[in-house]
Amino acid sequence: MATPDWLPRAVDSVTPNFVELLGQRLSQDKLIFQCDDARNFTGLEFWSLSGRMGNVLRTFGAKPGDRIAVHCDKSVEVLALFWACLRIGCIYLPLNPAYTIGETAYFVGDAEPCLLVCRPQEYAEYNVKFSASGLKVVSLDDAGGGSLVDAVFAVSDSVTEAASTWDDVAAILYTSGTTGRSKGAMLTHGNLASNALALVDAWQFTSSDVLIHALPVFHTHGLFTATNTVLLSGGSMLFRRKFDVEDVLNLMPQATAMMGVPTFYSRLLQHPGLTRSCAEHMRLFVSGSAPLLAETHHAFEKRTGHAILERYGMTETSMNASNPYQGARRAGTVGLPLPHIDIRITDLKSNRVLSHAETGMIELKGPNLFKGYWRNPEKTAEDMTADGYFRTGDVGSFDEQGYLSITGRAKDLIITGGFNVYPKEIEDLINAIPGVVESAVIGLPHDDFGEAVTAVIVKNRDIEEAMILEALRPALAKFKLPKRILIQDSLPRNAMGKVQKAELRRVLKSLYRPV
Ligand code: AMP
Repeated sequence: MATPDWLPRAVDSVTPNFVELLGQRLSQDKLIFQCDDARNFTGLEFWSLSGRMGNVLRTFGAKPGDRIAVHCDKSVEVLALFWACLRIGCIYLPLNPAYTIGETAYFVGDAEPCLLVCRPQEYAEYNVKFSASGLKVVSLDDAGGGSLVDAVFAVSDSVTEAASTWDDVAAILYTSGTTGRSKGAMLTHGNLASNALALVDAWQFTSSDVLIHALPVFHTHGLFTATNTVLLSGGSMLFRRKFDVEDVLNLMPQATAMMGVPTFYSRLLQHPGLTRSCAEHMRLFVSGSAPLLAETHHAFEKRTGHAILERYGMTETSMNASNPYQGARRAGTVGLPLPHIDIRITDLKSNRVLSHAETGMIELKGPNLFKGYWRNPEKTAEDMTADGYFRTGDVGSFDEQGYLSITGRAKDLIITGGFNVYPKEIEDLINAIPGVVESAVIGLPHDDFGEAVTAVIVKNRDIEEAMILEALRPALAKFKLPKRILIQDSLPRNAMGKVQKAELRRVLKSLYRPV
């Protein structure tokens, strides 16, 4: 296979896979993980643990291409398990620990792993449920215990590595599945390595960096974006099992960077301890996985002097675009395409390629693009264009300086009386009204218009439906004006902070019938 064009010249051109690349870059002697339970790991300890785990996986019969499903709480051991899989050529399959046993059964049925690693408290039930099918089950807890870890002491830390290539699948990540059943996105060694190298450069990570890692590790953000960027740069992590505002504020004076979802930033802003001096040692705050409100961006900059760097990515593609490290970080935009990634905008109905300034489907291609959906060639084909672009499902446009803005999800588009309404345009106006904390605009069934524009808001002071409508009226065409403004205590969100509009529509459509 020819050397991929995203691999820097400085990297040995015969480096064949992500394992070898990390082997060249990992800081051996340094503490690369400092955990909240005071367990620390040097690079060498981490690599030895992953080698041992690789040998243990082999004792369970794991062979290249086999899937290893992991339904565990966050720990360094879970990351070591990911690298163990890569080292022996297996495919890592992380599952959100919040999933019930019934939900996990769907993924196990779909991916057919050879081994399931679960929390000790679920071990007995999983064992009964799956043993008849031949699936082996082992346990791992978030404090470094469980039958998997017990077994590592009986084996060597030196593992014979598989001869994987850049094109081999390293992991299957199931998409959040807000509509329909989730699909397994197959990510290759090349996908993960190219993206991590791009981010090390784009965000200027070096061996001096200390990242506050408080994200979950079953999702692309915490598992790949945060972790791989630090590991490849030779930096280290303050590794937290959960995000806690006070804890993060205490860590900032020893850290240089944090990657978070927008909720991290809005919660930090609610704490008086977030000050310029507290954030003085930090050089970078990154946000992604859900839209960062412009208001949060501005408030954070005012309070700390740091402009949050917003970036855009997804499970199937890892990171696609980022605001610049040097240069203007524009609130409400996700920045410029990362190197080697081509992004274009197409018409939602005709698929015609539009000019950059027009609004339409965001399509992209590059070395970050996944290999396809696991055992689902029909869905893969549906989401790919004939010339190899992935239809992201996100709607957006570029400005004159080439900054990309996301206007919403194609499936969230509201069609009312034949007119297209993009919820984000209305949400931005509503969010700017004093007293509104946040909003979600959705379409609810309407006898005459098909769908009725409906706004759901969370407020922090006395504000009525009529007042909001009055404020919106001068700014919006009549067909875009919400037929109802519904007030709720909170918006439903998933683990990554994304508003679950499908859930809102499902619940509200039986309660309200806009007229
Ligand atoms: P996931 O596959 O769970 O990572 O979700 C990916 C989706 O999250 C994208 O397709 C976008 O809809 C959304 N997303 C990610 N980053 C951003 C961002 N910075 N602003 C707005 N939406 C985002």
